Amino acid sequence: MPAQDATTQQAATPEAEALANAVLNGDRRALARAITLVESTRRDHRETAGSLLAALLPQTGQAMRIGISGAPGVGKSTFIEALGNHVIDAGHRVAVLTVDPSSAISGGSILGDKTRMETLSRRSEAYIRPSPSGNTLGGVARRSRETLLLCEAAGFDVIIVETVGVGQSETRVAEMTDMFVLLLQPGGGDELQGIKRGIMELADLVLVNKADDDLKPLAERSAADYRNALKLLHPRSADWKVEVRTCSARDRAGIAEAWEAVLRHHEALEQSGDLTTRRAGQARDWMWSEVQESLIADLRDHPEVCRRLPTLESAVIEGKLPAAIAARQLLEIYLGRDAQAETKLSRRRT
Ligand code: GDP
Repeated sequence: MPAQDATTQQAATPEAEALANAVLNGDRRALARAITLVESTRRDHRETAGSLLAALLPQTGQAMRIGISGAPGVGKSTFIEALGNHVIDAGHRVAVLTVDPSSAISGGSILGDKTRMETLSRRSEAYIRPSPSGNTLGGVARRSRETLLLCEAAGFDVIIVETVGVGQSETRVAEMTDMFVLLLQPGGGDELQGIKRGIMELADLVLVNKADDDLKPLAERSAADYRNALKLLHPRSADWKVEVRTCSARDRAGIAEAWEAVLRHHEALEQSGDLTTRRAGQARDWMWSEVQESLIADLRDHPEVCRRLPTLESAVIEGKLPAAIAARQLLEIYLGRDAQAETKLSRRRT
């Protein structure tokens, strides 16, 4: 692992430069190719992707980045379809990305399987990208984050990142967006209990969907309950009071009002300077999660680590070696300081 000067990484290769220009010109096929590139795990692809992102970075950052989460069946795709069409009618260009934790956990997909957002996907001002697959949620999220930047460079000024309310994906999505919208079902106190406090704390806007027909009164009551529950939580930002509203994605009711809330939130964050600090913090955290992911991937690829990992792992599983010591030894092997580690290990074995 030779130390590399940061500036040498930033010079775009001719291939990356041509692709960057095509993306900037709004060429959808180039955008699709660029996304495939950042989603690839091949080392040479990762290098070109890095070069591409470095070239495009100055042209990013102008979009509103909105995270939307909710349990399966709550109406996310119906809502995004309604909101997306509304926002396009107001003159914006919308990209919808998904972070699907199920693709990392089970290899299956909760969000990607069915045809979703049909009318939205047919509009030229919309771009819908299903979740990349990956072995880890971190990896899936990383690719979505890079795709978000590519979409911004391609001129999409509203980016919606959708995720399903399972596992840690909400946190990942909140880490890459300016605003987090939580979609909920109308329901009684039990439902309210079931929602994890941490997820409520991430929300900037809570929408109780399906406020139509017989469910309307229940939706209103649920919204009042959530408002009360939120009073007990720490606000995510000092400059924004979390709003709880009802809507019916099916009937397209409350969608314009939800969008106005998004705009109000964006303005509040922009005026207070929170938007800049939030994004700066996210960029720094992103760098560290990149370091973490890349180091682990590199370590797992290291030939000597691969050779000795089974023995160390079995020793840990069998309770013969403390996990912390095994971890330390793996690092020593990886860093090429393993002679000492090897001696220590054989001493322990005897
Ligand atoms: P997702 O799994 O969260 O993406 O949910 P979908 O958008 O696929 O919706 C799940 C089901 O709820 C579908 O049968 C929708 O027709 C229905 N649905 C979505 N929004 C509404 C709504 O506002 N009102 C009612 N009554 N049903 C809705």
